[in-house]
Amino acid sequence: MEDRPLRILLIAAEVVPFAKTGGLADVAGALPKALRELGHDVRVCLPRYGFVDKERFDLKKVLEPYPVPMNSGAERAEIFSTEIGRGVPVYLVDNAKFYDREGIYMYPDDADRFVFLCRAALEMARRLEWAPDIVHCNDWHTAVIPNWLSTIYKDDPFFTKTASAFTIHNLAYQGVFGHRVLEIAGLARYEFDVPPELSPNCQINFMGRGLYYANVINAVSPTYAQEILTPEYGEGFDWLLRARRDRLFGILNGIDYEVLNPATDPHLAAHYSVNDPGPKQADKAALQAEAGLAVSPETPLIGMISRLSDQKGFDLVGQVAETLLTNLDLQLVVLGTGDERYHRLFTDMHERFPTRTAVFLTFNTPLAQRIYAGSDMFLMPSRFEPCGLGQLIAMRYGSVPIVRRTGGLADTVQEYRPELGTGNGFTFGPYDSLAMFAAIVKAVANYAHRNAWQALVTRCLSMDYSWRTSAEKYVDLYRRALSSREENPVPAEFTEVPG
Ligand code: ADP
Repeated sequence: MEDRPLRILLIAAEVVPFAKTGGLADVAGALPKALRELGHDVRVCLPRYGFVDKERFDLKKVLEPYPVPMNSGAERAEIFSTEIGRGVPVYLVDNAKFYDREGIYMYPDDADRFVFLCRAALEMARRLEWAPDIVHCNDWHTAVIPNWLSTIYKDDPFFTKTASAFTIHNLAYQGVFGHRVLEIAGLARYEFDVPPELSPNCQINFMGRGLYYANVINAVSPTYAQEILTPEYGEGFDWLLRARRDRLFGILNGIDYEVLNPATDPHLAAHYSVNDPGPKQADKAALQAEAGLAVSPETPLIGMISRLSDQKGFDLVGQVAETLLTNLDLQLVVLGTGDERYHRLFTDMHERFPTRTAVFLTFNTPLAQRIYAGSDMFLMPSRFEPCGLGQLIAMRYGSVPIVRRTGGLADTVQEYRPELGTGNGFTFGPYDSLAMFAAIVKAVANYAHRNAWQALVTRCLSMDYSWRTSAEKYVDLYRRALSSREENPVPAEFTEVPG
């Protein structure tokens, strides 16, 4: 395969450090830096949300307003740019009507907002005279692009060599809208090209389009890439993924080892590393004080940082909280936002156990980093987990993960075996509160063996989940996308359809 550097346009709804609700932003902010280090010309594109401050990020205007076709008319996009890492251009698409909002998602016009992002990004590439080899699409927000490259842009000379890669960060969020979105996306006249199974209940499903049309697909861990082939995890698209399994890969996410570094993290009270782990104790004491808990080095402190959604397994925590907090000597620090019922669950828990728990129902990155550093253990009992970054960041900060063995959690956390000196955490299999409870009991019991525990912490601190290895796998994926576009530009036939 040819070895030349690639031109990669990565488009995402959220990118660190500009906008973040979850792991997608971490990936979109860190993978491009690693691709750049490998010598590729990678550029990133996202909306210029109203809260992305032009001065703080030193945004410079690179394109005057230009028309972006939408429906029968056009909306105007303006492009600002800045850089991340060592010379990765980031383009921010500005349009006050669509993006001047307080949040990122959950607006009634989300379909319009993300179709606009995608179309503005492709038209931007043309105006910059920078034809990408690869458009790297992420989740449903950008899933219309593979559909376009096979339809409205198919005969466009500027994009004839452009292939698409589609990454599934979370199959559960699919972008389902009424038929009107096809008009907005200029796809109404191609509707009969698409198998009707892709539009269940006459709804347009962006995720399905991405999976059907992309030249290659990947999920963010090898285990999740397998799990989504089954009805249990396939979110209604396991049949399509099975049909396209020759183009489906699993590539584990990394984390940004420069930003997430306990030796230099500006948010921490004390700095430490694998060679000098001692000061982590000071971060624990600082966290206990900040959280209003007793400053007690001997009490194991469990951290949880997460979107509060059904996916993350907090109902299991709710089921055993009483037993856990009355029978075990431990402290629990929770940071998260999301569904109201989990806000209530954790608020109630704190009311019942005010000296044992601290609950922060906000989104706060500096506090998150202090919790990773100050906790002894990190709990992720997810129902499903495409990759999970929490456990990787926790290990980077020497906090031992306690996880359910699913998706990327199964790929990155191996059961601790003190007698062999192997493993890096505590795991449980069934989605069951008692199984989780047993894993926590085991972790707390092991915490009492101070020397062995310290060796376990050191093992976590020395794991390498930086991006380099995974970035190399993405480059292989992109080259596959290019050859697959040349060989077989139309989507594969499928024989199996939903039952
Ligand atoms: P997901 O993408 O499903 O939300 P991940 O574990 O892959 O889950 O990534 C979550 C990311 O978001 C991590 O970087 C985590 O630290 C961060 N995060 C989640 N909730 C919060 C919060 N309330 N405050 C700060 N950071 C958070």
